[in-house]
Amino acid sequence: MPSFVIAEKCDGCKALDKTACQYICPNDLMVLNAEIKKAYNQEPDQCWECYNCVKICPQQAIEVRHYADIMPLGSSTIPLRGTDSIMWTIKFRDGKTVKRFKFPIRTTAEGSIDCFKGKTLPSDVADLKKPGFFSGPARTE
Ligand code: SF4
Ligand code: SF4
Repeated sequence: MPSFVIAEKCDGCKALDKTACQYICPNDLMVLNAEIKKAYNQEPDQCWECYNCVKICPQQAIEVRHYADIMPLGSSTIPLRGTDSIMWTIKFRDGKTVKRFKFPIRTTAEGSIDCFKGKTLPSDVADLKKPGFFSGPARTE
């Protein structure tokens, strides 16, 4: 079930250089029509159906639709992401039946994790080009 942008809800991420859905798609499928400030999935049949774009969209403008050759359009899957959970709203093909499921998405408060805690940050930008892993053993050279 590929992602589908609801044009009426999409605000083009307010004309940022890169929209949230472009940033998150692992297959670079989302593109922005800068003229009308609307994003779209440029190749739905290449969609990995990971739903990253669906979950990250701040406008809840992306939904999940089944392929038209398998079942008629009409059903939809739309998430509402909160700070600790996601509420999925599932609309059935009959257009009337709606079910909602809420799932926790994290066990820590949003923004509470310090990714660099206990790690030495590079003192120079040139250090970023040196070999080695951030979390690996300290380099001796
Ligand atoms: S993340 Fe949502 S609002 Fe932003 S460009 Fe994509 S579809 Fe539109
Ligand atoms: S569902 Fe995943 S692969 Fe498909 S367009 Fe969205 S982010 Fe890209």
